[in-house]
Amino acid sequence: SRHQLAVVEDCCQAHLATCEGQPVGTFGVAAAYSFYPTKNLGALGDGGAITTSDAALAAKAKRLRNGGQTDRYHHVEMGVNSRLDEMQAAILSARLPSLARWTTARREVAGRYRRLLAGAPVDVPPECDSGHVYHLLPVLSASRDRLQTWLREHGVETLIHYPVPIPRQPALASERPDVCPVADRVCAQILSVPLYPGIPESEVELVASAISRFTP
Ligand SMILES: *Cc1c(COP(=O)(O)O)cnc(C)c1O
Repeated sequence: SRHQLAVVEDCCQAHLATCEGQPVGTFGVAAAYSFYPTKNLGALGDGGAITTSDAALAAKAKRLRNGGQTDRYHHVEMGVNSRLDEMQAAILSARLPSLARWTTARREVAGRYRRLLAGAPVDVPPECDSGHVYHLLPVLSASRDRLQTWLREHGVETLIHYPVPIPRQPALASERPDVCPVADRVCAQILSVPLYPGIPESEVELVASAISRFTP
């Protein structure tokens, strides 16, 4: 508020996360959640939600998602079609009660990886806050591309979240963003290991073992 900036939280990977005990999504004026199928809470197709405690903002968001309509067929502003369809809403309602349990499971898997990778030739970022919900568990290696190939040869699929930092996305070129050297380095070294609630312990051990046997 001192700088008259509005904070909008991107909570798309942070369902149920807390930061120093405070739930994410309660820091800014509004927060955006994704229910894309792979997220911590996922639909069977696309979906998302905005949370806010500002009633006027909530009303505007509801309008904008529905073509800018107030009453049926009365448009007061330009909107988009961003309605959550009933099928996805039903799936999400059915899955929501499991989210806390899935979150605990994600934390357990991350803890297991941390223990198994303690001596491995990769950097596992420290857990800075126990409210982390581990949408991903990225590890860092200066030989990331070779590590990914090594793991693929050992039957382990990994993904890179994300290969191109935001300032280097062509879509933002016209904004002339500053170069962010830390983001550049991290994007070149980062690799996400397999993690989902219910991943068998034996598979976590197999992945950790393959990483441990990698020669950087
Ligand atoms: C998935 C994701 C998005 C985009 O969500 P959509 O549902 O595809 O719009 C945005 N930010 C983060 C951090 C995400 O993980």
